[in-house]
Amino acid sequence: MDFNQIRLAFNLFFKPLMLFLVSLLAMNLIEAAAMQPTLVPLTKIASYGIIGVLLLASYLLAQSVWLLVKVARGVGESCHGCGMPVRYVSPGRYGPYYKCMACGANRRSHE
Ligand SMILES: [Zn+2]
Repeated sequence: MDFNQIRLAFNLFFKPLMLFLVSLLAMNLIEAAAMQPTLVPLTKIASYGIIGVLLLASYLLAQSVWLLVKVARGVGESCHGCGMPVRYVSPGRYGPYYKCMACGANRRSHE
C-alpha cells in the first residue's frame, strides 16, 4: 500500500468513519445521561440527532463507494495520471478544476 492509496482511502472514508465514531460516542453519552430522570426528554431528542448523523455518514459512505464503482466502470471524471476518482473544486484560484483524490494532480475543468 503506497502513499497514494492511503491518501485515497483517507479522502473517501475518513469523514464517514469519523461520523460513525462520533455517533457511537454520543450513544454512550446518551445511555449515561438516561440514568438521570431529568435528562430523559433530552436523550430522546439527542437520539434523533444520532440517527441524522448516522444517515449522513451512510450517505457519505455510499457516495464514496459510488465514486469507486464509477471509476472501475470507466464512467465520469477520473484522474488523467492515475485513473482514480477526482473531486470537483468549483471556486478554484484560476477557475474550476478537478483534484485527484489519490495522487493530488489537478486538471482544469472546462465548464
Ligand atoms: Zn491521480
